[in-house]
Amino acid sequence: MNFVVLTIFPEMFDPFWSHGIIRRAIEYKKICTTTVNIRDYAQDRHQATDDRPFGGGSGMVMKPEPLAGAIRAATQKMPTAGTILLTPQGRPFNQNIAKELASFDGLVLICGRYEGVDERICHDLIDYEISIGDFVLTGGELAAMIIVDAVTRLIPGALGGEDAAENDSFSNGLLEHAHYTRPRIFEGQEVPEILLSGHHQEIERWRLKSSLMRTLLKRSDLLQQKKLNRQEIEILDKWRRELNQILELHHRNESKTLNDTKA
Ligand code: SAM
Repeated sequence: MNFVVLTIFPEMFDPFWSHGIIRRAIEYKKICTTTVNIRDYAQDRHQATDDRPFGGGSGMVMKPEPLAGAIRAATQKMPTAGTILLTPQGRPFNQNIAKELASFDGLVLICGRYEGVDERICHDLIDYEISIGDFVLTGGELAAMIIVDAVTRLIPGALGGEDAAENDSFSNGLLEHAHYTRPRIFEGQEVPEILLSGHHQEIERWRLKSSLMRTLLKRSDLLQQKKLNRQEIEILDKWRRELNQILELHHRNESKTLNDTKA
């Protein structure tokens, strides 16, 4: 995967390229990264990349010519690459979009600044408009890093352990199970016994339950969208029956207390 980032602050990416999984993925040639300064495509002698908005108002707008020049130069080198404009007005980024993007052999990420980019850039030069959330950042650089990071995790071999991303939250429609490491007891809290048993099948079942429970408690919207398999339905059904029993008992006790009070 080739990532090309177009920005007026290329130096922001130096520490990003040189740490952790991203650095290793570059070293192992799983990804290739290039940062391009949009200013290099500016056409005037001051190398201006922004100008005042037509119609007046506060703030500046990124000029179309330097952006178009930088995008065209990148896509000429990588004709099959997808072009992404980072914008708070785009499709909200999620794991499904990350998977979709991971299928490209190249991505060109365009980082806006100021009030954003001249609208005419979006018509022919952009494949995706992506937002990383309903908030406004000062620039697209952090958003581009988030996308590069999430997509890199999905590139085969980029994580070292082949199946690491397969178990990530959202990959099968659920949040991932709880994790524990040494020590066995931390501030009075013990690691669940089953994880120390060496019983792989039982551990897998415990992890599935943990995953279902966390999703139910933290993100029930995911469970509503998920196509559940037989084992998952069995577990949820058992919990439903247990919960119903508890509630029935509670209601029975409640009406008994009420009747006793009346009597
Ligand atoms: N005036 C614009 C608006 O209200 O829609 C926001 C411009 S923002 C200050 C400058 C740049 O930051 C944008 O062009 C975009 O590249 C980036 N940006 C800001 N928030 C973002 C978000 N949530 N997701 C992706 N990019 C974002």
